[in-house]
Amino acid sequence: MTIFSRIIAGELPSYKVAEDDKFYAFLDINPIAWGHTLVVPKQEVDYFFDIDDRQIGEMMIFAKKVAEAIKSAIPCQKVGMAVLGLEVPHAHIHLVPLKTEGDMDFKHKVKDPSPEKMKEVCEKIAAAFNKG
Ligand code: 5GP
Repeated sequence: MTIFSRIIAGELPSYKVAEDDKFYAFLDINPIAWGHTLVVPKQEVDYFFDIDDRQIGEMMIFAKKVAEAIKSAIPCQKVGMAVLGLEVPHAHIHLVPLKTEGDMDFKHKVKDPSPEKMKEVCEKIAAAFNKG
């Protein structure tokens, strides 16, 4: 079971922003920008491009809704998207609010993200998602 499956199962805590029957979105614990969110399929697949055609399409539609929520909750110009997957073997999309191109730099990390601020950001995005 991957660390993300344990999060989805509720065995490990997460700052959840959205969920449906197939996908789960939560804040990255080591964000590169405030609002940096991960979207994962509940079904465990390691490599993103091994996800089957139907599911990868549905995942993009779910990620689009999460990106819209991030954009309305977090001041930014656009929401960027990236797939890396070198660290956690459970396919995921990174959604990152961008003000400049440099904001999509995975070497950059938000300094000491406090639980209070993570909770605040999470609640804002979740509220925007639930508003539709
Ligand atoms: P990647 O696999 O795309 O290279 O990186 C994995 C991402 O997952 C990293 O940005 C890392 O901060 C995040 N991550 C790793 N473990 C956890 C975790 O337990 N909880 C959360 N919320 N994010 C995690």
